[in-house]
Amino acid sequence: MRTAAAIIGAGPAGASCAYSLSLKGIENVLIDKRKIIGFPVQCAELVSRNINQFVNLAEIPSAINQKVSFMDIDTGKNLYRSEGKGYILNRDVFDDYIVKSAVKAGTNLFKQTNILKINADENKIIGVRIADNKPIEINYDYLIIASGPKNSFDLRGNFKQGLKNKSYIFATQVRAGLLKEEGLDSTICYFRPYIPYGYGWVFPKGKFANVGIGIEKPRTYMPLSSSLNNFLNEIRNKGLIGSKIYGKTSGLVPVSGLNNLYSGNIALCGDAAGLTHPITGAGIVSAVISGNLLGGYVAESLKTSKNLLEEYGDELESIFKKPLSAAAKKRYELYPQMTGADNIDKLIKRLWPSFEEYYE
Ligand SMILES: Cc1cc2nc3c(=O)[nH]c(=O)nc-3n(C[C@H](O)[C@H](O)[C@H](O)COP(=O)(O)OP(=O)(O)OC[C@H]3O[C@@H](n4cnc5c(N)ncnc54)[C@H](O)[C@@H]3O)c2cc1C
Repeated sequence: MRTAAAIIGAGPAGASCAYSLSLKGIENVLIDKRKIIGFPVQCAELVSRNINQFVNLAEIPSAINQKVSFMDIDTGKNLYRSEGKGYILNRDVFDDYIVKSAVKAGTNLFKQTNILKINADENKIIGVRIADNKPIEINYDYLIIASGPKNSFDLRGNFKQGLKNKSYIFATQVRAGLLKEEGLDSTICYFRPYIPYGYGWVFPKGKFANVGIGIEKPRTYMPLSSSLNNFLNEIRNKGLIGSKIYGKTSGLVPVSGLNNLYSGNIALCGDAAGLTHPITGAGIVSAVISGNLLGGYVAESLKTSKNLLEEYGDELESIFKKPLSAAAKKRYELYPQMTGADNIDKLIKRLWPSFEEYYE
């Protein structure tokens, strides 16, 4: 088959791109290997309230699990509270809503389809339908790579086994029951020597909480499981969560900043473009922003027969390059010094973006 725009990955980045293309009347195909969009959830599900500038959450009340008002930073020596207005999403509902909006607007969705190869010379992607193992080929005018943190395609279309971003946080998370009956109105981030080059989090979800840790590999050889177990023991001992685990997930977060964003008629958005924040790991809002923006530029390119991906790259860089590079630099410089509770407490205000000192 052939299409004007093929999009690999129906996460928030790819789905936003497809939606934006369909709204502008551009034929597009959105492809994902998953059977159920958004599931399994590999995310702590926090977004700031500015998400409403890009996705109107009022239209999808079931995507909001709860609101939070504060963010607490626990260094082991001190607890710092700052304003942290946000939502804890039901991420599967959120992702599914963007995909359904795209489909309603005209996107052709291929689920359970794994793209294995890009033949950039022939403007063709090649994959397999997982349900019946049938091969699939799609010719495109423009190709959007939105295949998330584990993206394995480079911009010439080569598939290389292995990861394309330069450094990653390896994250693992459980769902636990909150022991506070009234729930929590804040997200809590914990900085501990046993969570090197990263942090632990308790993000409330009604009567439950997403509880996880993320550490950068290979900068530390600490096993993920022992870091998580230490963390769970600590917060259980504090009486915050119960001992029962209701589910477990894990995933990768790119933390090295922006990648090359385009080449020829191929462009990247979302995690595949390296858009997650190198300190906080947040990437949902930037995935949506980049997908929307790329959809606009691809639509305009097709309408005017003038390739505008360079303009896409310039605009995305003007928004994200400076803040992401600054955060990546702080990661590189400050984390190695945060070896004990005293140093963590001394450096946290320069490391974490909710403190004014971060911006000095
Ligand atoms: C444990 C964890 C916690 C996180 N917590 C937060 C948080 O609280 N707040 C926040 O803002 N961000 C968080 N993030 C980051 C956030 O999840 C990502 O930034 C976001 O999902 C990026 O969206 P995306 O569309 O780029 O990629 P994804 O959501 O990863 O979507 C990519 C899609 O591409 C599909 N795909 C990949 N390869 C192929 C292929 N070859 N063929 C077909 N389909 C393919 C995948 O199935 C997937 O559906 C967290 C990440 C992790 C791992």
